[in-house]
Amino acid sequence: MNLKTPVVKLNRVGKTLEKRLKYLGIETVQDLLFYYPFRYEDYSKLRSVKDLQDGEQVTIKGKIELIANKRSPRKRTMITEAVVADETEQIKVVWFGQPFIAKTLKQGDTVYLSGKVSSDMFGVQMVGPAYEKDKSTDTMHTARIIPMYPLTFGITQKQLRFLMSQVIDLVDKLPDYLPEDLKEKADVMNLSEAVRAIHFPESDGELEHALRRLKFDELYVLQLRGEILRQSLRQSKSPQIKFREKEIKKFVESLPFELTKKQKISAWEILQDMEKGDPMNRLLEGDVGSGKTVVAAMAMYSTVLSSHQAVIMAPTEVLANQHFVSLQKLLGDIAGVALLTRSHYKISHSESKVTKNDLIKKIKSGDANIIIGTHALLTDRVEFKDLGLVIVDEQHRFGVEQRKTIRKKSGNENTMPHFLSMTATPIPRSFALTLYGDLDLSIIDEMPADRKPVKTRLVDPHNREKAYGFIRKQVKQGRQVFVVCPLIELVDNDGLTANPDKKTVLDEYEKLSKQVFPDLKIGFLHGKLKSVEKSETMEQFNSGKIDILVSTSVIEVGVDIPNASVMMIEGAERFGLAQLHQFRGRVGRAEHQSYCFLFTDSDTKKVKDRLSFFEKENSGFKVAQYDLEQRGPGEVYGISQSGMNNLKLATLQDHELIKLARDMARDIDFEKYSSLLDRVEEWESRVHLE
Ligand code: ADP
Ligand code: MG
Repeated sequence: MNLKTPVVKLNRVGKTLEKRLKYLGIETVQDLLFYYPFRYEDYSKLRSVKDLQDGEQVTIKGKIELIANKRSPRKRTMITEAVVADETEQIKVVWFGQPFIAKTLKQGDTVYLSGKVSSDMFGVQMVGPAYEKDKSTDTMHTARIIPMYPLTFGITQKQLRFLMSQVIDLVDKLPDYLPEDLKEKADVMNLSEAVRAIHFPESDGELEHALRRLKFDELYVLQLRGEILRQSLRQSKSPQIKFREKEIKKFVESLPFELTKKQKISAWEILQDMEKGDPMNRLLEGDVGSGKTVVAAMAMYSTVLSSHQAVIMAPTEVLANQHFVSLQKLLGDIAGVALLTRSHYKISHSESKVTKNDLIKKIKSGDANIIIGTHALLTDRVEFKDLGLVIVDEQHRFGVEQRKTIRKKSGNENTMPHFLSMTATPIPRSFALTLYGDLDLSIIDEMPADRKPVKTRLVDPHNREKAYGFIRKQVKQGRQVFVVCPLIELVDNDGLTANPDKKTVLDEYEKLSKQVFPDLKIGFLHGKLKSVEKSETMEQFNSGKIDILVSTSVIEVGVDIPNASVMMIEGAERFGLAQLHQFRGRVGRAEHQSYCFLFTDSDTKKVKDRLSFFEKENSGFKVAQYDLEQRGPGEVYGISQSGMNNLKLATLQDHELIKLARDMARDIDFEKYSSLLDRVEEWESRVHLE
């Protein structure tokens, strides 16, 4: 048997169990070793029966004096009752619905029992304890710190522990990628010791050391991955883009508003970065509506002033269109602003219609020097004359492959453009450090001064009519309204009908346009519409031809309609808080007092708690933090690529280890420590498989 041996070769693993293990991601002995317990029960201290107290978790050792099954009087469950005694006292033990126990344990057997003590009028008893016959060797399930594994249907703790005990000695074969001197520096134990101890710890202290080592490994590989990116990027040169203070100042003065302090700082950090010959690699984080676009515009303007091109990529066509409109306004007089998406080709101040071919030529020749597109721009046949800056909106980082593609198209293979990503998902700093070890960070955690916080209300279902009345008043005052629903229509692709209680875009559209607001103009939007239809609808909403827009979450990111003042969300429990916050960010983008109404049919306390927290909290950073604690990072940030989902033991609370891992990765010599590269490679191949 070795680490690669399939689990089916193990004792008592048949086809069925093999399948169930596979479901847990366990196919080989090595997978099994890296399947960690999620908690422990400390049964290591044996107790005398006469000292037992109600409510305690204990292990006792005693002889079975009596054991028998009986039927419960009313229900049809079987009850197994036993009397167990040690040298000090007898205790009653009961199991429900497990009649086989009376066959496994016999009168006269000596057993370990682990579980909780309870009491009734006849004294203390144990209900449903874990049990194990004393075979006078090491006990696996009782009388020690017991590992508890996350399980799936049809596998028991006992089974997993039994399997683990068959393979645990193979930990000695696990190669330790971490060289001795680094182990010493990090103050961590050997890998094999750690893996053994995570399953079968001898003491709390040993368990703690094991956890430290294994958590460190998880965090270190993320940091190393970032560091590889960082070092490879530093080997390339990029165009030095001069910070022309005079022109930038003039630009800022021409804006219809005063920049916030944080906008100024962020812009300054970006412009400083681009002056250097090393490629910028920066993430600009800012709450919805904090004004990232104008900061991006300053970076683009600066790039154009140095005779390079700048490109900005958005996740959707709707957003790309919108960026085109605002950037044309901001920079149309001083640059050639172009829009290139699947169905739209535009260039600023050009009356005649441009074709895709025209546009591609203009980009190649440099006539267009600010180019807006979707992420698909990367796969298109576009080539640039001299690309100096790449911005992606609503994406957290650039992949290595993306960078290579961009470089090939950039018009100058000897240099690497500067990179800026922007995100409206406010990520707490310590979290950002874990995720984005390679990135520099600029944060706009301040709103423009003229903003009034959006008033958020969880609306009781029987106040729905009042909410509609309110909406009507807002529309009469010239405002516009969003209504968000979780689904498009009840019949999904497979022809199955979803729960009819769920709100759908098409139903709500019907209801609002025919019954509730027959006199108002209602539109709808969802992801299955053709992109021309989508942009037409957005255009109509933008220009005020639509009063109320019923939509799915497609309007989640970036959409900027300053005149909208009400965001009504149906089925609010179906969205995460971070997502609700994005919806809410679609209103309150101008001077009008704005409102966010949440509707839910759910009565559970958890939902109510979450939504009332959201009602009171307007800061995206606080909302994200709450969401992070409640639902975990994978759900909140949709970051399957980042590796954060692969943290099994480490959490964001491990500040010291996060910092240690980051410090130990920075500037590491990968030639000297080549095993670290192997480790990252091995990790990536595993993560991509999932
Ligand atoms: P986001 O950061 O969500 O992308 P935008 O860049 O779309 O935000 O900006 C939201 C709105 O705020 C836009 O209409 C923009 O013109 C406006 N804006 C940006 N900065 C300021 C500011 N300093 N003061 C007032 N309004 C601003
Ligand atoms: Mg934006």
